[in-house]
Amino acid sequence: MGNRMNLPGQKERVHLGVRQKMILVLLAVLTLALGTTGWYTLQEQESEITLQTKQDGERMVRLTAESLAYSVVGYDYHTIQLLLDEIVKGQDIDFARVVSGKGNVMAESGHLKINSEPWSTFRHDILFDRSVIGELTLVLDNRRIVEKLHAQRENLIRREAIIILLIAIGEFLALSYVIIRPVTMITDAMESNVDENGLITADIPYSSRDEFGRLAHQFNIMRRRLNDVTAQLHSRINSADQELRDKNERLLAQSDELQRINQELQRLTITDPLTELFNRRHFDSLLEKEFDYSRRHGDSLSIIFLDVDHFKVVNDKYGHAAGDRVLLEIAKLIRQNIRSSDAACRIGGEEFAIICRRTDKEDSYDLAEKLRQQIELHYTDIGDDVISVTASFGINTFPDSYLEIQSFTELANCADVAMYFSKEHGRNQITHHNGILNSIEGMAKKIDLQNKGTKDE
Ligand code: GH3
Ligand code: MG
Ligand code: MG
Repeated sequence: MGNRMNLPGQKERVHLGVRQKMILVLLAVLTLALGTTGWYTLQEQESEITLQTKQDGERMVRLTAESLAYSVVGYDYHTIQLLLDEIVKGQDIDFARVVSGKGNVMAESGHLKINSEPWSTFRHDILFDRSVIGELTLVLDNRRIVEKLHAQRENLIRREAIIILLIAIGEFLALSYVIIRPVTMITDAMESNVDENGLITADIPYSSRDEFGRLAHQFNIMRRRLNDVTAQLHSRINSADQELRDKNERLLAQSDELQRINQELQRLTITDPLTELFNRRHFDSLLEKEFDYSRRHGDSLSIIFLDVDHFKVVNDKYGHAAGDRVLLEIAKLIRQNIRSSDAACRIGGEEFAIICRRTDKEDSYDLAEKLRQQIELHYTDIGDDVISVTASFGINTFPDSYLEIQSFTELANCADVAMYFSKEHGRNQITHHNGILNSIEGMAKKIDLQNKGTKDE
């Protein structure tokens, strides 16, 4: 059985309350006490009555035996019979009998009841001249005595029942006033002043000097302490809660900041700090992914390499800062001309690369040409002067009609080769790797034809 919790204000329903228990205990104790004393009283009364009866009977049998002596010695049956009849009729005697000294019944009167009480039968010798001449037996009519005893018993029980009831009521009222009233008052006060937190909101208004008064007083002290502690606890919880919320907010802000920093860091790891294009490392990983994707989906993929021509001269002539400015503006031109699906990267000091997704040889060439022209025509303003540069381009496209490109590095290397081809052949121009292969094949065919011709000659 678990503890039953009471809602604030709800009274406890007592099935067998202190009052009922008290009545039961009082009744039990009183019944036991008075029952025992009553039983003893009854015993005493009974033995008194029987003693009295015995004495009376003995006296009567003695006197009757004395008065019968002459009639018995004279064998005057008639007188004996008359006397016995008289006794049975007049007295409380049921039965009378005279037996001669020889044991013969001389006369008897009345009816002998079989179940007569032992104490109601009296015998006495009939003496004449100090010798026994017969015996007289008298059996008392004990009905009245028994009735008397019954009546006495009933009286006693009735009297005791009334006494028990009166004492019980008196005791109950007294105890109710002394115990139940304060207990009820205290309990009622506790039950009716409970707030939603289960705290008792008012003192118990019981100010007697008895034990209950002390109990109520101690309870009131405890109640106030408990309320104080609870209030302190609540305020601590509230401030801790607020602190926690503040911390949480700060943490969230820090987390946002951290996320922002992280994103920035991530951006920086893939970005070239000067031009803000993708750096070399990211170029490699991007190219690898794009190459794999294009190979799987049968898409074309082009990369354009460009290297600023004689850039060393720019640095030497105008200074490193001016050179940086030129690089920045080239980056800007690249960014302005590519598509959103393209990726522009700075892969070396004055070297750039553009990864063009789903772009074939012709389209990539067009883009390179556009850029080449724009770079050539562009002037970088450095205050006192303007700088104009050109760039050499190398392109490679996957798939290649001459060469089966196996990897992204191969793709890049071939673009590099094409770019150096442009450098070697006068700079400020574009070379597609496919074109080199084409011309090599053409040259090979030409040589082959020439060889054939000389053979024919
Ligand atoms: P080429 O036409 O053969 O490419 O000649 P080049 O002078 O451009 O080539 P080279 O490789 O000899 O020189 C490249 C120069 O680029 C050398 C270096 O000082 C310069 N450079 C590399 N990175 C930077 C940079 O970040 N800023 C500046 N201002 N100059 C750079
Ligand atoms: Mg270079
Ligand atoms: Mg260069």
